[in-house]
Amino acid sequence: MLDLSKYTKELSEHFFTTGNILLISHINPDGDTIGSQLALYHFYKSKGKNVDMITPNNLQEFLKWMDGADQIKVFTRDREVCKNLIGKADVIVMLDFNQPDRLGDMESIVTEAKAKKIVIDHHLDPKGYADFEITDPAFCATTELVHEIVTEINGGTFTDRSYSEAIYIGIITDTGNFNHGNYSSRTFRIVADLLETGIEKEKIINLIYNNFSAQKLRLQGFALNQRMVVIPEYQSAYIYLTKNDLAAYDHVKGDTEGFVNMPLSIKGIVFSAFFTEKEGFIKISFRSKGSFPVNEFAAEFFSGGGHLNASGGEYRDTLENTISYFLNVLKVNFSRYNGNV
Ligand code: 5GP
Ligand code: MN
Repeated sequence: MLDLSKYTKELSEHFFTTGNILLISHINPDGDTIGSQLALYHFYKSKGKNVDMITPNNLQEFLKWMDGADQIKVFTRDREVCKNLIGKADVIVMLDFNQPDRLGDMESIVTEAKAKKIVIDHHLDPKGYADFEITDPAFCATTELVHEIVTEINGGTFTDRSYSEAIYIGIITDTGNFNHGNYSSRTFRIVADLLETGIEKEKIINLIYNNFSAQKLRLQGFALNQRMVVIPEYQSAYIYLTKNDLAAYDHVKGDTEGFVNMPLSIKGIVFSAFFTEKEGFIKISFRSKGSFPVNEFAAEFFSGGGHLNASGGEYRDTLENTISYFLNVLKVNFSRYNGNV
């Protein structure tokens, strides 16, 4: 278990800098990275600090309503403004990732910046590229860890409602609303504290999970009906969507969130993959049940990484070739990954 008190002195120095603080989320930002960013933003603001936020590319639609989200600068949209903020930052806090390639096009600008760099994260295999890293996979979400850090530094629970919402959103999105991932008794104690600050959990659930277009639901039906392949001999299943499929259902960012989890509800399936055709490459998400380490699978075959049961990667080829490569590596390596050898 991470002993935060060990870090408190050093953390407090970084946290209470009088200079410019820049909070950075990872590419294709999810609820946990944005939740971590906004939670720290609200905390810093309450202390009167100079704090800015940058994300490598745009937010998913279902996160844009969050308090403070409109203050996040998007690198791919506002390059010069973002470069300026990175250049003048004294402290950069990177949230929910521990590999510099998760910075997308900002990677070299951030890693070469003069600022002190801090990583706060819960993924495995930290690359060790920052000046100060707190990364512990025992936390179900980076916001859970952020909350522990803020509580420690604040000398008690910080009870701001927008802060609590952001922490809560990281936890529910990274665990599929307490469905997967390593949430624990600690998580529920934290959630109890968050609920006591008056957050409206029903409103949040509606904004996160019940806020989609009819086309999104139709795309989900189509994906399950027409684009899901089950491979019982390898206890695996995958779903793929072409660019045309996405266009046909007026896809917006975030519409396919969670699709990769669907095949895991089939009895006996322990490994699931989801392929999306992008401009010039294929993005792949992986999920598993039990001990099948999808982070290692993604790292070994798809230049990616992540957690034991949730990971992602990419492959630079056509969709067809990517799937046939996937099937080959699955065939050869399934037993090893599934712990049978
Ligand atoms: P998702 O499938 O939701 O995009 O990602 C699941 C998990 O895998 C996330 O925790 C994310 O950080 C990680 N992940 C997704 N794509 C990549 C990737 O391309 N590289 C690495 N290193 N991790 C990824
Ligand atoms: Mn996370």
